Amino acid sequence: MAEDIEQAVSRRRTFAIIAHPDAGKTTLTEKLLLFGGAIQLAGEVKAKKDKIQTRSDWMKIERERGISVVTSVMTFEYEDNVFNLLDTPGHEDFADDTYRTLSAVDSAVMVIDAAKGIEPRTLKLFEVCRLRDIPIITFVNKMDRESRDPFEILDEIEQKLALDTAPITWPIGRGKTFSGTYHLALNAVRRGDDEKERTPVNGPDSNRVAGLLPENEREAFIEELELAREACRPLDIDAFREGHLTPVYFGSALRNYGVRDLIEALGAFGPPPRAQEADIRKVEATEDKMTSFVFKIQANMDPNHRDRIAFVRVCSGKLERGMKAKLVRTGKPMSLSAPQFFFARTRVTADEAFAGDVVGIPNHGTLRIGDTLTEGEEILFRGVPNFAPEILRRVRLGDAMKAKKLKEALHQMAEEGVVQLFSPEDGSPAIVGVVGALQLDVLKERLNFEYTLPVEFEMSRFSVCRWISADDKAEVLRFIEAHRGDIARDLDNDPVFLAQHAFSLNYEAERWKAIRFATIKDYQ
Ligand code: GDP
Repeated sequence: MAEDIEQAVSRRRTFAIIAHPDAGKTTLTEKLLLFGGAIQLAGEVKAKKDKIQTRSDWMKIERERGISVVTSVMTFEYEDNVFNLLDTPGHEDFADDTYRTLSAVDSAVMVIDAAKGIEPRTLKLFEVCRLRDIPIITFVNKMDRESRDPFEILDEIEQKLALDTAPITWPIGRGKTFSGTYHLALNAVRRGDDEKERTPVNGPDSNRVAGLLPENEREAFIEELELAREACRPLDIDAFREGHLTPVYFGSALRNYGVRDLIEALGAFGPPPRAQEADIRKVEATEDKMTSFVFKIQANMDPNHRDRIAFVRVCSGKLERGMKAKLVRTGKPMSLSAPQFFFARTRVTADEAFAGDVVGIPNHGTLRIGDTLTEGEEILFRGVPNFAPEILRRVRLGDAMKAKKLKEALHQMAEEGVVQLFSPEDGSPAIVGVVGALQLDVLKERLNFEYTLPVEFEMSRFSVCRWISADDKAEVLRFIEAHRGDIARDLDNDPVFLAQHAFSLNYEAERWKAIRFATIKDYQ
């Protein structure tokens, strides 16, 4: 049945999970899907998880991508809400992929290991969320194990992230005695996720709570809860939506505690699809006309066909199967004949999708990362970032006859976001840039596997790459003129300055004050 745009938008929650490896992201994902009815049995995500122990592991996983649709987006429903969970790669070598995905969400769940607190990758990912004002709900996981004191965890979040906390639930017991969550404002108890409803109680000293705790812990729990009530902030929805405060939940994804609390929270006050900033105006989620952007491309989902799926985030209107959209970069029309939705195991044809939804659009190279699709309007969404590569290499090909094929293949890989490609102004061979070394392995593997192009990488004389711009365009031209041998163009033909080392970059930056040397290109 056709759904009214406004209603559809208000039901949607599009989010990602950010966590340091091992904190429990996969387990939590699995449980969210389980309680959302998207999978029948827990364990399915595990089997496909992109947990990388070694480089060869990663290769295998890349090859297995043919069946693994779990890695990009998972849609499930819970009560009245439609949830789109966007997955992010676990390994930091693929961080740019993660950052691009975060450009397509409206909120994030931060999973913290209750024994370890804020770990380095949590911090890094949090910073990316903060840059984008993405509201964050915190899930303190592994309460069934030896863990830190909840107050200490809250304090660490406040100190390390400069983020206010508002605990919504409190753990009943810890480690071996962890047996449920207590809702501070509602005075209600949920023993575990098997319980769909919470049971109201009179207070922390009620019999029901006492029954969940060993005798010697009861008194302490009552005191702790009183203190939490007095000392902690209440939930302030505005502060949460603005990214200044995080509601905190305690649980154990593995043992099914706190997961329902979390889903309910996302439904109750998780932000619905937000307005998206385009180059010339802000686009409201409830506008009639469809707008969307590509934030991720996944190739070889079907190894028998060289197909690419472009994942687009719908920003407004209704994306309908069969509609003609305009690809703003080229100005050309594009028929959306087979958009797809993704569930844990299957994909189905999407007849209609609304703001917040992520649909996969099969194509043969028409769409690239960062592209905007509209019903005709000339606007560009600018939020999908490019990061200055940390590693620059030349690609050496055994067979010189295949140079043209290599060029095409590299171009495609760059459009998919596997690597970045820079063409030096002096006509010398292209340079590939990556953020993490594993990306080079993936590139090599894919060139070999998909294009039968065996390649090796050679050191380039450059090690630093920056996008250059200035308020005065003539200044950029002057800089380019003065540094011909150190200038290259990216996929969009935007100029970058290549330096041998940070020292030479600093030297130039001192001399050319009007030039900006950017480490992030937001397509702006
Ligand atoms: P990821 O790397 O963040 O995706 O973490 P996983 O979900 O793979 O979890 C890492 C390890 O922690 C696995 O062995 C999980 O079984 C375990 N784990 C996850 N959640 C919990 C939990 O709530 N309690 C306990 N005891 N172990 C957990």
